[in-house]
Amino acid sequence: MTRPHVLVVGCGFGGFHAVRRLESRLSLDEADITVVTPRDHLLYTPLLPEVAGGLLDPRAVTVPLTGRLRSRLVLGNVDDLDLPGRRAWVTDPEGSRSVLAWDRLVLAAGSVSSPVTIPGLTEHAVGFKTTAEAAFLRDHVLQQLELAMATDDPQVRAERTTFVVIGAGFAGTELVAFLHRLTQAFARHHRSDPPLRPRWVLVDATSRVLPELGRDLGGRALAVLRRRGVDVRLRTTVAEVAQAGVRTSDGRWIPSRTVVWCGGVTPNPLVHRLGLPLERGRVRVDERLAVAGAPGVFALGDLAAVADLTRPGHDTAQTAQHAMRQGRTVADAVLESLGRGTARPYRHHDLGLAADLGGWQAVARPLGLPLTGPAARVAARGYHLAAIPGNRSRIAASWLTGAGRPPLLVHLDLNQRPHHSPLMGSAS
Ligand SMILES: Cc1cc2nc3c(=O)[nH]c(=O)nc-3n(C[C@H](O)[C@H](O)[C@H](O)COP(=O)(O)OP(=O)(O)OC[C@H]3O[C@@H](n4cnc5c(N)ncnc54)[C@H](O)[C@@H]3O)c2cc1C
Repeated sequence: MTRPHVLVVGCGFGGFHAVRRLESRLSLDEADITVVTPRDHLLYTPLLPEVAGGLLDPRAVTVPLTGRLRSRLVLGNVDDLDLPGRRAWVTDPEGSRSVLAWDRLVLAAGSVSSPVTIPGLTEHAVGFKTTAEAAFLRDHVLQQLELAMATDDPQVRAERTTFVVIGAGFAGTELVAFLHRLTQAFARHHRSDPPLRPRWVLVDATSRVLPELGRDLGGRALAVLRRRGVDVRLRTTVAEVAQAGVRTSDGRWIPSRTVVWCGGVTPNPLVHRLGLPLERGRVRVDERLAVAGAPGVFALGDLAAVADLTRPGHDTAQTAQHAMRQGRTVADAVLESLGRGTARPYRHHDLGLAADLGGWQAVARPLGLPLTGPAARVAARGYHLAAIPGNRSRIAASWLTGAGRPPLLVHLDLNQRPHHSPLMGSAS
């Protein structure tokens, strides 16, 4: 008898934890497991703002798959699916295509930056979802300040010293907080006449920053940012992005050569290949994460619409916290379909969220308890160290040795836009 073949598409938070569970429950002669992933690591996205801010090395937030998983890894992207024929097409990083057959399919390919229709955004803005984008941003921002010091043209100087971030959710707010601190350190350490005055603008269509944390904590974060001098413009949208600036919905022009899009994500377009109805772009799954109408297919994480059994009438949020735990549930469901054990419905009470604002500032709501300042920062960092499935001592050492020391203020010539930014094309 041939062994069943489980194909897992994507190895981020959900896929990684699904594969780990499958490997722990299935022996090598019981099933073959293949993981298709464009990356050789799990990217721990919550710490990306610290990479952009120069506090962590990009590699510190990547957990290598080799050595942690024993399944077959296929480097590439699944770009087409044939459900009745149980086949998946894979394109590797050099463009070669191959086909994989499967008996069970687990879709864990996450999300991409929301496709947007703002004129000029795709050409002139960068996204913030990858290590390449985080490293690029740090480099680019430092280089802009160095170029600003060399120009006598006040207009060009304003463009180079003004930085615009669109979207005041977790990614955008933390990014502004960390990069603002980096540019302030730069301005302190470089003599310039006139003095450098880096300016950060955070734009959001809603009336709050960090709406997921509630009015009080969002308000505290807003106060911290404004106290530091960040220009937070709420109830404002971006109408147009150009090479040298941004026009907002109120008609005002912000001179800037750096625009970052953190305006939300949409499920991976791979779900369209299923040919099933979608709900706000996500594929509906049952309580055990099986896709209705597609026998042998399971989905989880950012691309799946999963009923939140702790909040009737709602779906689970698109967070790492849910994706990780859904990984374990989906593995149990696959095992059950192979005649091994019984899967339980997915149910998880949110442990709470945290936003690190750098320095000793943070806001957090662990287990419903609102925290601010150092207590929130300790809670956030403690959670990250517990949640990341590797590199703990490396990250802790960086935090300890970096405390109180100025960041290294050099750029590494990474001044080309990242080629694989989801904003730059893969969202179609
Ligand atoms: C900057 C940033 C900060 C964040 N901060 C937080 C936070 O503080 N707390 C929190 O809970 N959440 C946070 N999130 C959200 C969190 O990262 C996601 O909710 C989580 O990653 C979803 O897990 P997932 O497994 O569904 O997808 P992912 O973890 O994104 O994994 C998907 C994987 O699939 C791969 N893939 C994509 N397309 C294909 C394909 N066609 N074929 C094969 N593989 C593919 C990707 O490369 C990736 O490795 C943040 C996100 C960002 C971008």
